[in-house]
Parts: sequence; C-alpha cells; structure tokens
Amino acid sequence: MIVMTPGTCFPDLPPGFFVRWFQQHGRAFPWRHPGTSPYGVLVAEMLLRQTRASMVAPVWIKLVQQYPEPQALASADPEALYQLIRPLGFGQQRVAALQSMARVVVERFGGVVPNRVEDLESLPHVGPYTARAVCCFAFGQPLAVVDSNVLRVLSRLAGWRLSRDIRRSSARCAWDAASRLVPARAAREHNYGLLDFAAEICKPVKPRCAECPLAGQCCYASCRVRGAES
Ligand code: SF4
Repeated sequence: MIVMTPGTCFPDLPPGFFVRWFQQHGRAFPWRHPGTSPYGVLVAEMLLRQTRASMVAPVWIKLVQQYPEPQALASADPEALYQLIRPLGFGQQRVAALQSMARVVVERFGGVVPNRVEDLESLPHVGPYTARAVCCFAFGQPLAVVDSNVLRVLSRLAGWRLSRDIRRSSARCAWDAASRLVPARAAREHNYGLLDFAAEICKPVKPRCAECPLAGQCCYASCRVRGAES
C-alpha cells in the first residue's frame, strides 16, 4: 500500500499497467503523433477542455495547418479563427484564450513553447493540468497529469469519497498518487493509457467493472460486490 495521508491509502497496481493498456487499447488522435510540436500539443490540450476528442480532431488539424506556430496564431484574424473553432462551442472564449496564450509565448518566450511547468503555468489560460500535459506529452517529462477523469479513476481505486467538501483534499491525494504511478520511462504512454482507461473502462456513468482488469484491487468494485452480497 502507498500511504497518501493519514488514513488514506492507494492500492498496489500491476507495474506498467497503464503503459501496457495504452499499447494494447490506446486511442489514436492526430496530436498524439510523435512529430507533433509542443505548440500543437498545447493547442490540443486547450481545445480538449470540456470537449470530446473526436470533435476536436478535425478542428485541431485545420488550426495547426492554418496557424502552424504561435506567431501565426497570435496575429490571426479573430473572425477567421472563430469560424474555424465555432463547431466546438465557446468560440469567442476559445479565440481569446488561444490568442492571449500565443501572444505571451511570442512576447516572453520568443515564439517557442517553454518546457518548464512554471513557465507554462505563467501563460494565460494554462493551468496545472495543461502545463504538465505539455511537459509530459510534448517533452517526455515523467510528470503526472490529473484531470477530472484521472481523478475519477484514482478515487474509485482508492475509495476516496468525492463529496464537494473534500474534493480539494482528494485532488491533492490524486496528484500524489498519480505522481507515484508515473514511470521514469514511458511516462507519455502511461498517462495516455490512464486517460484512455478512464474514457473506455472506468467511465463516469456505468463503469465497466465486470470486465475491468483492476477490479481485484479496486475499492469501488469491492464495495459494490459487498453491497450486492449483503
Ligand atoms: S473496477 Fe470499476 S471502478 Fe474500479 S477501476 Fe475498474 S472500472 Fe473503475
């Protein structure tokens, strides 16, 4: 057991589980291609917020083709950018966020997306998840990424209750647990695997526990079995 905080534990998982999951079941998205630039990864992560990846894919392809670097995005015609992004919803907000991020990359970082978490977090509209996602997916750094989907998986495995009152402390536990799970090598594949596992197996509604290879280690699944037996 990994002790997270007093009274809070995280189950042992098979080593390399999420790396293998990605290798066998990983989803293919254009921004996951090995040649994708850090700028392309950053734009993808910003577009993916609250939006299905399948919707983002065609928009992301057009966007990075038309605006292949931060300079081009910073100086883009906002109306043309809006028309491109509009299918994803929140068009005006997304345009403002992308262009303000791109302007700061140009002005403060010479048009080069930085590779340090603290520099990325200093960009407008880039928070802890996006900063670490770029460091991991674009630069291969062994950092955890915790979004609401990863938080759901880890919480179910560990049996953390995610009531509103303790969501903040649970999120801290999740960052700790996720950090301990990240392998020194293949961090990118590990985090992609965790995200894909959350999307395909440990779904928000009706998780597929009956076919889940982690059911034996999972508090959520064992509680459901105990509940059904009692
Ligand atoms: S057993 Fe169910 S709740 Fe636990 S990780 Fe698997 S799918 Fe998620």
